[in-house]
Amino acid sequence: MSDTHFDVLIVGAGISGIGAACHLQKKSPDRSFAILEGRKNFGGTWDLFRYPGIRSDSDMYTLGYAFKPWKEAEAIADGPSIMKYLAETIEENGLQDKIRYGRKVTRASWSTEEARWTLEINIEDKSEIEILTCNYLSMCSGYYNYEHGYLPDFEDMDTFGGQIVHPQHWPENLNYSGKSVIVIGSGATAVTLVPSMAKTASHVTMLQRSPTYIVSRPGDDKLANWLRKWLPNYFAYKVARTKNVLMTMLMFKLARSKPKAFKARLINMVRDELGPGFDIEKDYTPSYDPWDQRICAVPDSDLFKVIKDGSASVVTDHIERFTKKGILLKSGEQLEADIIVPATGLSLQTLGGMTLVVDGEELELGKTTNYKGMTLSGVPNFAWTVGYTNASWTLKADLTADYVCRLLNHMEKHGLKTCTAQLGAETASQEPLLDLKSGYITRALADLPKQGTKPPWRNHQNYVSDLMHLKFGRVDDGVMEFT
Ligand SMILES: Cc1cc2nc3c(=O)[nH]c(=O)nc-3n(C[C@H](O)[C@H](O)[C@H](O)COP(=O)(O)OP(=O)(O)OC[C@H]3O[C@@H](n4cnc5c(N)ncnc54)[C@H](O)[C@@H]3O)c2cc1C
Repeated sequence: MSDTHFDVLIVGAGISGIGAACHLQKKSPDRSFAILEGRKNFGGTWDLFRYPGIRSDSDMYTLGYAFKPWKEAEAIADGPSIMKYLAETIEENGLQDKIRYGRKVTRASWSTEEARWTLEINIEDKSEIEILTCNYLSMCSGYYNYEHGYLPDFEDMDTFGGQIVHPQHWPENLNYSGKSVIVIGSGATAVTLVPSMAKTASHVTMLQRSPTYIVSRPGDDKLANWLRKWLPNYFAYKVARTKNVLMTMLMFKLARSKPKAFKARLINMVRDELGPGFDIEKDYTPSYDPWDQRICAVPDSDLFKVIKDGSASVVTDHIERFTKKGILLKSGEQLEADIIVPATGLSLQTLGGMTLVVDGEELELGKTTNYKGMTLSGVPNFAWTVGYTNASWTLKADLTADYVCRLLNHMEKHGLKTCTAQLGAETASQEPLLDLKSGYITRALADLPKQGTKPPWRNHQNYVSDLMHLKFGRVDDGVMEFT
């Protein structure tokens, strides 16, 4: 076996890349493969983000892999617990030697003549470029820019006399004990940071331009913990996972079919959490329908508790400019702080910033169409893992990895070299691959692949439908063209 040519190269050693390698090893065991990881560690998201309280907001029974039970009591897990789970997965599956760290892939070029990909890779701390080739390319590079998050151009930011700390670059020993903090934003990161910092800060203000839907859910899953006492881990995990998949789908369906009633229910839950004395209309009622943007989940009401006891508060206003002592708001109010945390979101980045070239022509992602939410029209021997936006990411990552193995096995069995989803007469709609209206998605619409109007070109965001198409549907479906 050559060490510069592989059957499969996987880009990224986060949840998706590690999972894809496990599937490959188990279901397509004769394939040679390697994982190329740009950073010095595995884990992706869960290694990068180090801010206080970093945790999942979906449950680990669905954010965990189908093949590896989550055994901790907490269903909502913190960053270190997720890293421990991933480290175990790597060890149990002997992947240590398969991951090549400090390898940032910058360009992948497909040649139909050779039926293979050539990857250009920057090796960290070295000026040389490594070249590797593979028959099949599996992108597990996540969806955002690892170098920097999104930071709006706030006026006079440099006049602020305190510290500005971005959640994506959290300093290791930041001391915020007894200090006043402003967290700008109302997304998943802000609602995690606020209760966590409020434990020792003198006060934390969550400054939002507009409210987000926030719901409390139990930090542990009572049914899962009870089942584990009576059933083997694997079965208990399966039952809890199925229950959570179905509950999430049911809630999403209800939210989309009865948005007014669902919205009223969510807002009433916040009212019940906080009690009297809070402006629910102004600070907790979003202008959009539930699931137009991701709903933020907080474990065991932690955010509401610190707002209620006064250690944190919510301000809904627009920023006029930064001042030496804090922030001047459009309303004229001044907020003072020692530390400002702009939890203003991610900067979406497709394909890990790589350039993709097919037979000498650079690919414009915005002109491609998604196929089964796992590859792109006209790009041969290529998979792209993009998880759900309305459920746990890993549910779709698992299905994608399983489907790639089915494709590879089908090709092996029939002596085929290439597979390409061909758009044919199907016309793509102009809807983007990801259908949320969140800021990080709308800012990058032009760079996102489009969806078609019906399967297999439609990205369902629906686990049961994807299960039917990806796990049980025909690989040779008349759309995927083999040579
Ligand atoms: C703070 C935060 C909380 C989240 N919470 C949840 C949650 O609760 N539930 C949920 O479902 N989702 C959540 N998400 C989404 C989350 O990103 C996914 O759940 C999941 O971790 C994505 O895994 P991944 O492996 O696909 O991507 P990532 O975790 O982003 O990993 C991608 C890996 O690919 C590497 N890479 C990228 N480009 C290249 C390149 N060109 N060359 C080499 N290597 C490259 C990166 O270095 C990284 O290690 C959260 C995201 C964030 C930022």
